[in-house]
Amino acid sequence: MKYDILLKNGHVIDALTGLDGKYDVGIKHGKIAAVSESLLAVDAGSVIDVEGYIVMPGVIDSHVHVSSEARWIGFSMMAGVGVITAVDFGGPIQHTVKGLAAMGCGMSIAGLHTVTPGRNTKDADPTVEELSEITDEALAHGALGLKIVGGHSPATPEATARIIDVANRKGCYVAFHVGTTRHGSDIEGFREAVELAGKNHLHIAHVNSYCRGLHRTPAAEALEAAELLRSHRNLVSESYLGTINGTSAHIKDGLPSSHVTRNCLRMGGYTPDEKGMGEAILGGWAFIQVLRGGKIELVTGKEGFEIWKDAGTRTGVSFPVNDTTSMHILATAKMQDRNEFVVDAISTDGGAIPRNVQLERGAALVRLGALTWPELVRKLTLNPARMFGFEHKGALTEGFDGDVTVADPVTGRAHLGISRGQVIMIDGVVVGKGGHLLAATREGASEAQEAGLTSEVVDLSKSWFYTRT
Ligand SMILES: [Zn+2]
Repeated sequence: MKYDILLKNGHVIDALTGLDGKYDVGIKHGKIAAVSESLLAVDAGSVIDVEGYIVMPGVIDSHVHVSSEARWIGFSMMAGVGVITAVDFGGPIQHTVKGLAAMGCGMSIAGLHTVTPGRNTKDADPTVEELSEITDEALAHGALGLKIVGGHSPATPEATARIIDVANRKGCYVAFHVGTTRHGSDIEGFREAVELAGKNHLHIAHVNSYCRGLHRTPAAEALEAAELLRSHRNLVSESYLGTINGTSAHIKDGLPSSHVTRNCLRMGGYTPDEKGMGEAILGGWAFIQVLRGGKIELVTGKEGFEIWKDAGTRTGVSFPVNDTTSMHILATAKMQDRNEFVVDAISTDGGAIPRNVQLERGAALVRLGALTWPELVRKLTLNPARMFGFEHKGALTEGFDGDVTVADPVTGRAHLGISRGQVIMIDGVVVGKGGHLLAATREGASEAQEAGLTSEVVDLSKSWFYTRT
């Protein structure tokens, strides 16, 4: 047999080759074997007719949360909407790897390891030596790099810059949810992040979330964010299209432990304390995240309040704080030459946070005329692959990984997911098992294999993260 799987009659859209029309796709031994106007059904072990659907490279979600055990359900939530590869922005990396082995649904995953000065370092002002040790350990356990969550748990600007610098010296990835002890998770924090990066390489997480109108109008903030990204190409970035955010509802000493949560309460007109949090849930502004029927759902009002209390306030929470004007500006903004996007990718910051809407809302932007399908496909596949250095992903080209997402051209609803040659989802039903880890080091990749996963080493030196200046 020439092909294990043959996708017949679909509308192929591929950003690398520029294909945009009716083609067949043959997959063999986990790789794309052929893309052509007509491949013979007799040459295939299994033929799937995808007439009327868009066939694109496997969707890569460039920012998700699936690391803690309560969030492992996020793997199937992602696979269910056609995501094939994702990058976890939480950690600890050991938990991400364990979750991938237990509930990975056949997906490819890379993971960042969060470093929070004072929480998982000895000192609130960690030395280069300590940060260096933490980084080496994370990479040896399979991480692609580090994450800084300044927005939730701010560190000093100096400690933050030191983490960015250590990661750059090690040649690993580093992403920043902006915010320090000086500036919050907002446009001012973003401006500060540009300075803290200096000439270093840095991933700015979920750019839209800094443009919620805390200082000026959301549109004015989004235009400034876009301008900063246009003039600082050493920064890579992603933004999402979900209306809700995702943060912690945990209360410590009468106050929300996350600074983001405090901001969200203020935005809804509630006091940023325990009382305000309770009122925000009862008043329908705060939505408690609950596992129900195999996915995380959002519950507000009296029911949400009871769940939050019963859990000793240790639940996730979402607020409808994302402004649609800024999310649209950031999803569509282009560079001067019109060929490149300002924000590299459309992500979700989802996974276990129920907002894996990149295809559904992306298709809505296409219906609106704000993006074309080829542009949307580029932001969901080729761009994130390049950003992270996933060399064999992001394109339907011979020799690339057999990753395919098949979706409805009107609604964006995912119809079929194929990961490294295996069907992992059919019409929303997830059938994939196991997982594949994309690690930064050989030690990290072999540790994943001991956990029962397949793995590979990513060459970050070829990624946009390191090559773009
Ligand atoms: Zn996140």
